[in-house]
Amino acid sequence: SGAEEWLSKDRKYVWHHISPHNDNPLIFVSGDGCWITDAEGKRYFDGMSGLWCVNVGHGRETIARAAYEQMKTIAYSPMMQSHVPAIELAEKINEWLGSDYRIFYSNSGSDANEVAFKIARQHFHQNGEPSRHKFIARHRAYHGSSFGALSATGQAQRKLKYEPLGAGFEHVPPPYCYRCPFGQTYGNCKLECAEAIEDAINWEGADSVAGVIMEPVITGGGMIVPPPEYLPKVREICDKYGVLLIIDEVICGFGRSGERFGHHNYGVVPDIVTMAKGLTSGYSPLSATAVRAGLYDSFKAKEANSHFRHVNTFGGNQVSCAVALANLAILEEERLVERSAYLGQELGQRLQVLRTHPHVGDIRLFGSACGIELVEDHASKVPAAADKMLSVIGECRRRGLLVGKNGDTVPGFNNIITLCPPLITSDDELEFIAGTVIAAIEALTASQPVS
Ligand code: PMP
Repeated sequence: SGAEEWLSKDRKYVWHHISPHNDNPLIFVSGDGCWITDAEGKRYFDGMSGLWCVNVGHGRETIARAAYEQMKTIAYSPMMQSHVPAIELAEKINEWLGSDYRIFYSNSGSDANEVAFKIARQHFHQNGEPSRHKFIARHRAYHGSSFGALSATGQAQRKLKYEPLGAGFEHVPPPYCYRCPFGQTYGNCKLECAEAIEDAINWEGADSVAGVIMEPVITGGGMIVPPPEYLPKVREICDKYGVLLIIDEVICGFGRSGERFGHHNYGVVPDIVTMAKGLTSGYSPLSATAVRAGLYDSFKAKEANSHFRHVNTFGGNQVSCAVALANLAILEEERLVERSAYLGQELGQRLQVLRTHPHVGDIRLFGSACGIELVEDHASKVPAAADKMLSVIGECRRRGLLVGKNGDTVPGFNNIITLCPPLITSDDELEFIAGTVIAAIEALTASQPVS
C-alpha cells in the first residue's frame, strides 16, 4: 500500500527528532480542525496541538489565503529594511502584550531565546556593566536546542554528549509543589523556590548576573505550575538586583494560559518576552523577542559597534508575518483566549475522578494545558515506570487520541502525560479527550493491579 511504501522510504531516508530510528512513525497526511489523519487513513484527535502549537486547529482557510496572497505580492525581503506585515505584526504583538516593547524577529523558539541572551549581555556592556553575563534558569526547564538555548535548558539532555555548553548558565530547583525540592509544603513555606534565585544571584555575585529566564509554568519539562506568588516574587528579586527577567512564552503565549500571555496570569511585566510557535499556530516558522522599550535605548546610538548583530535571513519572513496576523485575527474573532480558560476549567473538572486513582499522583493545569503525573503509588510517589506510560499513551492512540509526555530523557522523570488540545476544541471533543484519558488510565489498573 501507499502507507507501507512511505514507511519504507522514511526508514531509509529520514532522521527523526529525539529518536532517530523511530521505526514506526505515524505519517500524517491531512488535518481538519482538531483532527489529523495518517497515511493509513486513521484519524486522531490532535490532543497536543502538534507540539503545543496548532492552537487554531488544522486547515484554516484564512491562514492559507494570507500566505498565498503574501507569496504572490512579495515573499521575501530582509529585515535590515522593513515591510508592512512585520510592522503590522509588531504593533499587534504590542497590543497583545499590553506594554511597550520593541520586536526583534527570528525563526524559532530557540532562536528567540538566543536573541534574548545576546541582547541582555550587550545591553549591560553598553551600560557600563560588562561583567553581567550570567543567566539563571531552572532544572527541568526547556528553552531550545541550539547551544545557548540548550545551555539554559535544565533537563538531563544537556548532559548527553554536547558538553561543554555555553558558560554562565546556572540552574536552580523548580517550584514543584508536588515534589518540593526543599522538602516544604505549600502554605507553610517561605517560597524557598523563589529564594533559590536570590541565593544564586548572591552566590554568583549580582554584578555578574544579566538575567533570569523562565517559562510562566514549566510546560514540556512536566507541567510544573508554581504557586501564584512565585513569579511576582521573582520579579521583585530581579528588580532588587538589577537583573533582567526574560519570560519564555513559546508555549504559554497567545492564549494557552487562558490569558493572552502566561505572565499575565501572574500580573508581572517582564523585561524581555520570547515567543514562537504560538504566533503562527505552527503554520509557518516565526519567532519574536519583545524587548521593553526602555531597554532598547542602549542600542539606539549611531556607532556601528552599538548595533545588535543577529542577522537572520528568514527572521520576520513576510509570509510568516502575514500568517501570524491571520492567526491572531482568528484567535481574536473566535475569542479563543477565553475559550482556552473555559476548556481548562472543564477538563480539570472532568479529570477530577482520576484524583483518587492509585497511579495518578497529581493533576496540574495552566489554562488549557494539562499534566497528569503518574506514579507507582500515592504514598511513595515513585514515578510510574516506562511501561505504564507507554501503556496509557498507546491506549489513547488506539482510541484515536494523541497525547504527549514530558520531554526529559532521564529515567524516572518522564512520568507526566500531557494534554494541550487546540483552542477550537468543542464541548463534545473535550468529553472525548477526558473520557479517553480516563479509560486509558483505568485500563492500566485493570492490566497491572497494584498490590
Ligand atoms: N522554549 C520553550 C518553552 C519550548 O517549549 C520550545 C520548544 N518546544 C522552545 C523554547 C524552542 O522552540 P523551537 O523548537 O521553535 O526552537
